Formats: sequence, C-alpha cells, structure tokens
Amino acid sequence: MQIKNKPGIGGPGGMDVEFRQLLEDSAVAVCTCDVKGRLTYFNKAAVELWGRTPYLQNESWCGSWKMYSPDGAPMPLEESPIARIIKSGKEEGKSEINIECPDGTFKNLLVFPRFLFDKNGKLQGAHNTLVDITEQKKDHIKKETLSAIVQSSDDAIISKDLQGIITSWNRGAQEIFGHSEEEVIGRSIKLLIPEERLSEENVILDKIKRGIKIEHFETIRKHKLGGEIPVSITVSPVKDSRGNIVGASKVARDITSRIESQAAMEKYIQNLETLNTVGKSISENLDVQGILQRVTDATTLLTGAGFGAFFYNNSDEKGNSFKLFTLSGAPRKIFDNMAMPRHTDIFLPTFRDKKVMRVDDITKHADFGKNAPFKGMPKGHFSVASYLAIPVISKSGSVIGGLLYGHPEAGKFTEEHELLVVNIAAQAAVSLDNSKLFEQVKSLSEKKDEFIALASHELKTPLTTIKGYLQVLAKKEADKMSQLFVDRSLYQVEKLQTLVEDLLNMSRIESGQLNFNIEVFDIKEMLREIIETFSYSSQSHRVIEDLGNNPVIIRGDRQRIEQAILNLITNAIKYSPKADEIFINLEVVNEKTTVRVRDKGIGLTGEQRQQLFTRFYRAEDTKGISGLGLGLYLTKQIIDRHGGIIEVSSEYGEGSEFSFTLPLAVQELKKEKAI
Ligand code: ADP
Repeated sequence: MQIKNKPGIGGPGGMDVEFRQLLEDSAVAVCTCDVKGRLTYFNKAAVELWGRTPYLQNESWCGSWKMYSPDGAPMPLEESPIARIIKSGKEEGKSEINIECPDGTFKNLLVFPRFLFDKNGKLQGAHNTLVDITEQKKDHIKKETLSAIVQSSDDAIISKDLQGIITSWNRGAQEIFGHSEEEVIGRSIKLLIPEERLSEENVILDKIKRGIKIEHFETIRKHKLGGEIPVSITVSPVKDSRGNIVGASKVARDITSRIESQAAMEKYIQNLETLNTVGKSISENLDVQGILQRVTDATTLLTGAGFGAFFYNNSDEKGNSFKLFTLSGAPRKIFDNMAMPRHTDIFLPTFRDKKVMRVDDITKHADFGKNAPFKGMPKGHFSVASYLAIPVISKSGSVIGGLLYGHPEAGKFTEEHELLVVNIAAQAAVSLDNSKLFEQVKSLSEKKDEFIALASHELKTPLTTIKGYLQVLAKKEADKMSQLFVDRSLYQVEKLQTLVEDLLNMSRIESGQLNFNIEVFDIKEMLREIIETFSYSSQSHRVIEDLGNNPVIIRGDRQRIEQAILNLITNAIKYSPKADEIFINLEVVNEKTTVRVRDKGIGLTGEQRQQLFTRFYRAEDTKGISGLGLGLYLTKQIIDRHGGIIEVSSEYGEGSEFSFTLPLAVQELKKEKAI
C-alpha cells in the first residue's frame, strides 16, 4: 500500500535503501517524475522549499504551488523546465524560475532537470534538483542597486586605502574633478588637493585611522584643468568583515553654486539695506547738495562703478555743457579743467529723451567719438568702457539732471544695477522736487520777515510824531467836538502803536535781537496796577481778582512781563464778547508763582489750542474781532525766555484759562525777610 502524500515514499524503483536515505536527508530539494510527468518522488527539503506536500502520482511535473518565469510571467506546470526536457527529449542545463508558496512567500530557484534511466538504459522519467537562491539574488540586487546609486550620484563618491590611494571613482567624481576612472585608480588622492592644503589629507587620514568620521568639511579641491572647486566633503572609515579599518569612503559635493547663491544673497541683502538707508536719508534731507551727494555715493558703491557723478541739466540752447554737481569715486580735480558733457549723441538720450543708457563698451558705441574737438573722451578723462546713464526726472516731467557712471573695464554694469539706480533716481527726484519747494517757501518767508521788519520800523517813526502832535492838541482848549476827535485819534494811534510794536518785537525775536532789561520786582503790585487801569477803561467787563496778601517777587523784564499779562487780559476780554467778567488769580507754590487769566468766552478746540502760540495764528471763529495773531506768540516767547511755562486749558464755547508760571526771585525774597 502506498501513502501518497508522504515525502520519500514511492520514487524511482530499484533505488537502494542507503541511496534513498541519502536523498531523503539531503539539504538539497530533489524530486522525480515518470515519462508521463507524474510525480514519483520528492524529499523533505523539497517539501520545505515548496511550502507544501504534493500528492505523489496524482500531481505532475513539480510540487510547486505556483510558478513564474524570471520575467514574472506565470509558468504553467506543463511548461516547467522538467516538463520541457521530457517533452522535447533534450536536456537544457540549469534554469532559473520563481515560485510562490501557499503562504504567499516568493522564492528564486535554480533548477537542474535531468533524464532518469533504468538499469537497462531505458528512459524512466526525469529528476530535478532545486536550489533556493533567494538570498543570493537579494544580495546581488542590493549590490547592483548600490552600484547604480553610486554611479548615478552627482556627488563624487571615492574610496581610498589608508595610504590615500584611490580605489574607486564614480561618474560624479569624474564630472566634478574632470579625471576619468582609469586616470585616477591607483593614484594618490593628493592629486585633487591644492598644494597649500596638502596637510589637510594627513589630518583626514589620521582621523580615519582612529575610526573618526569627518562630516561636511568645506574646503577647496582641484579640477584636472587646474581650476579650484569649493566642496563639502564627508569621509567615513571603511571596515573589513572583521571590523578592521582598511580605507575610507569619501563623498564630495560641489558647493560652487551654493557659495555663489550665498554670495548673491548677501549682496542682495546689502543692496537692500543700502537702498533702504539711502531712501530714508534722501527723503529726510531737504538740502539738495546732501541728497545728491548721498545718492551719487551710494549708487557708485552699489554699481561698483569706477566713478559716479550727477550732472545738472542746465545746458543752454546751443547745447553747451551740463553742470557737474556731485562726484563720487574720483577726485574732483580730474574734472576741473575738463570739458563737461554736452548735447552730443551720447548724452542726448539721457538729458533730452529721458532714456536710460547702459552700454558694455561705450568706446565701441556707434555714436561715440563723432564730435569735435575731442572725438571721444577729452585727454586726462577717467578711462571709461562700461557706461551707465540714468535721467533724474522731476514730477513735472522735466529732466533735472543725469546720474552717470563709468568703469574702465567693459561689461561691468548689469540689468540689476540699472534697476537699482533707476529706483534711487526716482526717489531722489521726489526729494529734489520737495527740496526745491522748501527752498522757495523758505526764501518767500525770509522776504516776508524782511518786509515786516522794515515796514514796522518805518511806521514807528511817523506814528510817534503823530502821537506827539495829538498829545499837544489834546492839551489845548478846544470845542467839545474837536476834543472828542482828538481823544479818539489818540486812542487809535495808541492801538496802532501796539500793533507796530508787536510786529517789531516779532522781527526782533526772529532775528534773535529781542533784548531784556532784567530787574527784581513785585508782580503782585504790577497786577494790581494793571487791573486798576482796566477797571477804569473797560466798560464791558469787570475784573474779579484774587492776588493774595503777600508781595510776589520775581526777576525779569518788567515791561515785557507787563506786556504778556496785558496780552492775556486783552484776549480774555476780546474773546468773551457775551460775558461781563474775567478772573485774575495769583498764587505761589514751591518757589514758583502762577498768574491765571480766565474768561467765560468762546473757548478753544483741541486743535486750536495746539496752534495758538504760532506766529499769525488766528482761530477760524475770530471774524469781526481785530488782531494780528501775534500776541500769544510774543507772550510765549517772553515767558519762555524767563524760564517759565505758559499753559492753556479751555472748553469750546465755555471759556478759557491762560496761565503762566515763573520762578520766584528767592534770594531777593530772603534778603527782604532778613531786613
Ligand atoms: P490775536 O488776538 O491778535 O488774534 P493772539 O496771538 O493773541 O492774536 O491770539 C491768537 C488766537 O488765539 C486768537 O486769534 C484767538 O483765535 C485765540 N485766542 C486767544 N486768546 C483767546 C481766548 N481767551 N479765548 C478764545 N480764543 C483765544
């Protein structure tokens, strides 16, 4: 009886017991089939390899669950190598097949099918030896992949022994260093190292021998043709199977482009910073010379020009020379005795047509050297090949001037340079426009001040004379009508005199000629006298006072302080037409005295309060109330110059309080007390 699915059972007849035992225990998988392909024998190793136990006699050719050819195509059992030799009657030698086991694992096999004959030489069938090569195959693939990776890498991958002799060299190394594999294998790695860096190799080898890896070491290596290449190298020790260090593997990366982009980035940042500071400084600057010098200096630096200059576009009708205004990078002396650019074909595009000119070599330009008398650059001119000219265009559209740059070598100015300068030129143009406006305003304002000073001075003398005559007339006996007219005229003349005096004082302040007559006096006494005079003269308002009981001694110009107080009281009355009282208060706190003048008048808005003390300022709602807008300006100047502070608090429509604080003349006070 046969047990059909047990390995080792059945098999080719006539096999002696020892031989059968040998096959049975062999680590190599073996199976047999008869001429019809029926499986007649398989050993334990075959069962293990297939991952299953086939049925003898009932299964054909092979015990594999599924079979594939090496290219992955399914292989039916009847096309398996063993089936092929039986069917063709021709042995084939070894073949490679892949099988799949029922548990899903794949294996690579080498199969060796051979004919099987009986003692009489009659064909019995075939036997097959199956060798599992899955692991070798994996190793092989791994090695091939690794080698492909090494070969396809853009980095140079080189190995060397402990003497520094090159043992392998990939395609990347060839590309970076220029040497082919044949040229370098067996030669020293020093071949790649510039002379002045040869000592690096000893340091590297020394570390490698001690098992130390060198990572991302940035250095310079040599190309076959002599050029220098910035590289980042990583060198690792290579060990044999027993762990002994036998050499080193080196990966070198060409970092030229990284270094170039780093340098470009740094340059870019530097340019941005310069742009920023130039932009800031020219927009803050109102002085033309300052703006243009800053612009010329910065752009000459940014473009790397040999020299840079700004020429004013002030040539005459005949096209005579532009005016050199600022210069950078060359001594001005060079240009001193030299003819300036004129309306020639080279300069016209910039100064007339508002065009940017960037020329790699101006001496080769079609329009160069055509004009007499120099036919090119005048003798002694700074040598110029690279040429860049950028118009500076005003808001009105006119060309203010041109920024011109030169370099003795050709091709120095790039598009980036051009853009940078165009940008700065645009900012400069705005600043120049502003500065022109500012100059105009300043000169107008200076003219106005001159006029005021002159006019008030001229008005003062005839006014004094008129007042004198009126005073004489006032003392003379006259009819009532004449008396009234003379009094009114005198009042108006006094008003005029105050206005003229205010104007004169303002001019004096502006020209720094307001002088003070300092003395020590009692401000309380002064206030009392002023209030008394007001009480007689003012018909509309009552003065409510709180001056305290003690004298308040200060040091200052009596007349000017009186003028300040009078200004505040006059304003309080003027700007409270609907009220009938004003309040005056004097107090002493911490060796300081404060005078307050309060009214219940029209009041002031926050915005108005901010501008009160500027010359000629008058709030919008003062129509119908006469004034020049100088009183508070003068009052503040007077108080400031006495080391005091003037303040205002007010509520619009409710009233205002003006106050000033002055230091007490403490020494004088103490002296008086001692007496
Ligand atoms: P003027 O009185 O000649 O106009 P001032 O310099 O004395 O000039 O005052 C400037 C402006 O301040 C005045 O035109 C007025 O608008 C405002 N002002 C001054 N004092 C008062 C006040 N007490 N109440 C409201 N507005 C005032």
